[in-house]
Amino acid sequence: MISFLDLKAINSGVREELIEACTRVIDSGWYIAGKELSNFESAFSRYCGSKHCIGVANGLDALTLTLRAWKELGKLKEGDEVIVPANTYIASILAITENRLVPVLVEPDPSTFNISPAGIRAAVTDKTRAILPVHLYGRLADMPAIMKIAEQHNLLVLEDSAQAHGASFDGRKAGSWGDASGFSFYPGKNLGALGDAGAITTNDDQLAETLRALRNYGSHEKYKNLHQGVNSRLDEIQAAMLNVKLKHLDEQTAQRRQIAQIYQEGINHSAITLPLGPEVSALTLQSHAWHLFVVRCEQRDALQKHLAAMGVQTLIHYPIPPHQQQAYSQWNDLCFPLTECIHHQVLSLPISPIMIAVDAKRVVDACNSFKQA
Ligand SMILES: *Cc1c(COP(=O)(O)O)cnc(C)c1O
Repeated sequence: MISFLDLKAINSGVREELIEACTRVIDSGWYIAGKELSNFESAFSRYCGSKHCIGVANGLDALTLTLRAWKELGKLKEGDEVIVPANTYIASILAITENRLVPVLVEPDPSTFNISPAGIRAAVTDKTRAILPVHLYGRLADMPAIMKIAEQHNLLVLEDSAQAHGASFDGRKAGSWGDASGFSFYPGKNLGALGDAGAITTNDDQLAETLRALRNYGSHEKYKNLHQGVNSRLDEIQAAMLNVKLKHLDEQTAQRRQIAQIYQEGINHSAITLPLGPEVSALTLQSHAWHLFVVRCEQRDALQKHLAAMGVQTLIHYPIPPHQQQAYSQWNDLCFPLTECIHHQVLSLPISPIMIAVDAKRVVDACNSFKQA
């Protein structure tokens, strides 16, 4: 069986380094807010090309606390509208509703799966205060167009970069475009800890300071509380794991790109639509982080069954769009035809930094031998 993602095998590749880092933390006697975290924060902000990085407990908190910080700073207030893709993982939207802000869902561009700039323009009202684009599957949203709209309407931009560590557009990485960017280091993400972890990147000094307080009970200074904060800290042990894994991220992304290329060149089936290649045009070079390699097929369930029979494990990201979830029952009657169509048709093929070319070719052959009903 070709497994979708073998985390044990991925982490085994750097096992000795991880053990050494664990030992360093155990022997330090210092487990929260120490050197490992500050080293990771400077390394990751440098990696993304942003001034600050603030480690938090997970990716959802990274998004939720950034919106919360903007409320504390008087830049957002309850009831303000935030434009967000209808086609995303539910965390992007939970961060908005948790802050009693109003998500305004916008359909994607079906060729990239990412939020459509024309859709954003049409959704702006006099209550809109922010845009939350998601770099879905590891491809950057159309950030030049999104930043232009934000500038015209004086909107904040929070990137959801949870799937896009190291992805770039015109040479600028995820995490360096918006006013702030939220990252997840959930174990299955391209940069994954060995547990939960997340971070925010930003160039804004005041926002960074507020976030540092919010993640630590609202306290800048021990026993002095400026805000009603939360406990959302990135532990030393996870920061140490991330310090090891960040060093290998670029080589691992390159390995993902090789698998993606084998799929792009090899899969040739009239019923299977491949994702767009990395080059959008001759002028804009997009470098895709290939967190997921997602194909579309009208007979998706039959294709998934066929691949399973051929020994290829696949997953669906995501089977139910947020507006059709029970958690958002008030939106269940809304209609987002492109988003709904995408959710019925998408299938994620195995892709990972440890996948070998022979296995990728077996996946290609399995796809090409699919017989439609
Ligand atoms: C994983 C993910 C998150 C949430 O990250 P966690 O660390 O699991 O909280 C948010 N947005 C997107 C798009 C994600 O894929």
